[in-house]
Amino acid sequence: MNSALQHDLNDFENILEKTKQQGLDFLNNLENIPTSNKHTIDPTRNLNAEGLGSLATLQEFKERLAPLMVASPGPRYLGFVTGGSTPASIVGDWLASVYDQNTQAIKAQGGASALIEFETIHLLLQLLELPTTFLGGFVTGATMSNFTCLGVARQWFGAQSGKDFAKNGISEPINILTATPHSSSIKTLSMLGIGSNNYTAIKTIEGNREAIDIADLENNIEKLNGKPFILISSAGTVNTADFDDFEAISKLKEKYNFWWHIDAAFGGFAAVSEKFKHLVEGWEGADSITIDCHKWLNVPYESAFYLIKKEHTQLQVETFQNSNAPYLGNPLENFNYLNVLPENSRRLRALPVWFSLLAYGKEGFQDIVENSTALALHFANALIENDNFELLAPIRLNNVCFTLKGDHNQENVGAFLTLLNDKGKVFMTPTVYQNRKGIRASFVNWRTTEKDIKIIIEQLKETVSDLNL
Ligand SMILES: *Cc1c(COP(=O)(O)O)cnc(C)c1O
Repeated sequence: MNSALQHDLNDFENILEKTKQQGLDFLNNLENIPTSNKHTIDPTRNLNAEGLGSLATLQEFKERLAPLMVASPGPRYLGFVTGGSTPASIVGDWLASVYDQNTQAIKAQGGASALIEFETIHLLLQLLELPTTFLGGFVTGATMSNFTCLGVARQWFGAQSGKDFAKNGISEPINILTATPHSSSIKTLSMLGIGSNNYTAIKTIEGNREAIDIADLENNIEKLNGKPFILISSAGTVNTADFDDFEAISKLKEKYNFWWHIDAAFGGFAAVSEKFKHLVEGWEGADSITIDCHKWLNVPYESAFYLIKKEHTQLQVETFQNSNAPYLGNPLENFNYLNVLPENSRRLRALPVWFSLLAYGKEGFQDIVENSTALALHFANALIENDNFELLAPIRLNNVCFTLKGDHNQENVGAFLTLLNDKGKVFMTPTVYQNRKGIRASFVNWRTTEKDIKIIIEQLKETVSDLNL
């Protein structure tokens, strides 16, 4: 054994102890660590011939790399839709690395970690009050979940005319209907060879809405003359957290032949709250659903899952079967994750979620969701009371989409947000909503409190006065 490795092996406990301390220094100080920074490194470091060992490397990490880290798991990072990490989720994530399982089969020689993944999906279905007619699995993020779901939808589309696209390639255009798809769904159309231009944009409901207009949807369905199609619908659009009408879509399902996909990356968690579960009523009728765990479930990156109806498992296997492994036999009998999703080797990604669900239960997540939504409302009310800002959309859930008041200020929105973010106390994302430049603040972090809203409002006021707006 190499001497650096041998030394590390002998000193393992001490190394992990110091690593834990490094982690705690970050977590305990999260409130004071900037949400953006200007530190840089010259990323051309030479590789040393002789290893430094873990402790010296940890020291270099501390000096050179740790200062690059921003408080993205902290309470005032409202950019994108960024969750934090709860204590239990970090425990699960650490142990997933320590145990280092390759999670594939439920009856693998030497391991059964896929059963832990099954159990975790079973717990998630209970959390979200979804039926056990779905088969689920973990992927890196909602993008890959959309890819997995829409990959099976593509295979379903071919099967409607007796074709096997997975084996023979796509031989005809695939009808995709959608109103306000997330950019990752469009990227998925590109990755799946369908083409990112090749979808029909359905109107949204009149007024300040991003949800699909059911009448326009039905008009477009009629134009297809009975041909099958794939509907990509939304449970929580990123700008305004709007939801398509799933009960109305369920009714269309009785009349027309289509694959119904829901991107519920963060909005799916509306289901855990009595106050908001009406937003997803009827979603159990979908063929596939995408949900992120590194957003509102507050587990570390990378974590999301897909849910696909069990009646489609054959199509799922046709899509993802690892054909270089004929020794596997019937993939449905000898279930193996590598035959139903993009990756072959996989870490035990379910473990952080398993820990989180057991540690905090349904009520823990209900509290997180209701805290986030209450804070979004509170923040929005503070904006309304301030003469410098206006809301671009009503608050439906946890996202606040706003801008500087008045059209004359449109040209200042970019500079305003840059300065606000550069101050490092809060981080938000630029957006364009209904042709107006705006700013989006998304509340999903379990640590955020009223005190943070106060700090954020002060930061907004300070930035307005810095720019003499
Ligand atoms: C965040 C998000 C995605 C993409 O998720 P990743 O986890 O970044 O891959 C897709 N859809 C919606 C609605 C999202 O909010």
